[in-house]
Amino acid sequence: MEKPHRSHVLILFGTRPEIIKLAPVIHELKARGIGTKVVSSSQHTHLLRPFLKMLDVTVDHDLKAGKANQGPNDVCSRVVAKLDVLFQAEKPDVVLVQGDTTTALAGAIAAFNRGIKVGHVEAGLRSGNRLSPFPEEMNRRLISQIADLHFAATADNRNVLIKEGISRRQISVTGNPVVDSLTNISERLGQNRRSGKKYLNKSDKHNSPLAVSGQIQKILDITSGQRSVLLTTHRRESFGETMSGNLCVLRDFIAKHDDTALLFPVHPNPNVRKVTEEILSGQERVFLLEPLDYKDFIAVMRSAWLIVSDSGGVQEEAPTLGKPLLVLRENTERPEAVRSGVARLVGSDPKRLKKMLTECYEDETWVRSVKKVKNPFGNGQAAKKIVDFLKKNA
Ligand code: UDP
Repeated sequence: MEKPHRSHVLILFGTRPEIIKLAPVIHELKARGIGTKVVSSSQHTHLLRPFLKMLDVTVDHDLKAGKANQGPNDVCSRVVAKLDVLFQAEKPDVVLVQGDTTTALAGAIAAFNRGIKVGHVEAGLRSGNRLSPFPEEMNRRLISQIADLHFAATADNRNVLIKEGISRRQISVTGNPVVDSLTNISERLGQNRRSGKKYLNKSDKHNSPLAVSGQIQKILDITSGQRSVLLTTHRRESFGETMSGNLCVLRDFIAKHDDTALLFPVHPNPNVRKVTEEILSGQERVFLLEPLDYKDFIAVMRSAWLIVSDSGGVQEEAPTLGKPLLVLRENTERPEAVRSGVARLVGSDPKRLKKMLTECYEDETWVRSVKKVKNPFGNGQAAKKIVDFLKKNA
């Protein structure tokens, strides 16, 4: 163990993608003897719980700030108020937040108002449209204004921050810790072309083997040999006509080609559930699933012929696994995935999805080519680099 570091770090998260990306940082901080308190806002509740266990994260304080039908202002006000009380007891030197959620913004505001340093993991992502994704694009811009230390996943992210007036000295390019998490779980699940042993941290205790759940293994067996499409969609921008149009296109595509299957972990949001039931339930070779824990989701991504998604994190995971991805969005704050050739932007017109699916089916050149692409989001060493920079600067 290294010499104890004087700083006391409080790590805050509230949603599934935040804990996936912060778990390796938490483990690295603890492995290096740095005083660390883990705080969940519980912005997500049911979605979050299985991830804590899988990623071996123990929560020191649960703010229990999540409620049904909450808006960003509800979450923000509750998290700021509860953190303010917690800061009095914990007196952290640094608060680490991740990404662009309302929890992350609230953490940054609460820390700033108490004179506590803020570190921002996954800094410098911009879609270019302040209203899309909403409210995430504004959340991330505001966090950048507040943060003292910026952990940029890529050189492009760093350049965005510099253009916005942030000093180079405050920025470290670390890669994205989603690669650390994904690679660790993928290796524990078994063979994966991209998960070279070089990513494994030998001193890491979080290396015990994992098995896919029985239900998912059964579906993977049934669909083996088929061209399976993995779908995730839950963003506000997709709700309504775009989402129902996309689901109809996917239903028709699967029905037309009997060597295809659709696997869709359906987000609990009622806007997604209702339209999914109406359009996809009872269709042959369409598997509607509850949200999957991370190992099962990774197993499904690994076996997919094609991924179709409006998620942010999936845009980083597809290049990590070398899987082709159609992005159900008008813009992306992760242009590196598109530039690398792994992802293609569909936009919001379902007719375009139809055309792109057909192209992938009829000519597999692109689908096959992405396996060889270099991952623009790092090599699984992000947590180490984040903690190195934190130790030097906090
Ligand atoms: N994910 C998962 N199970 C699922 C769907 C997604 O583990 O059933 C993971 C996925 O691998 C990614 C993260 O959840 O890392 C993405 O979360 P989400 O799409 O909610 O958020 P975003 O990344 O768009 O902020």
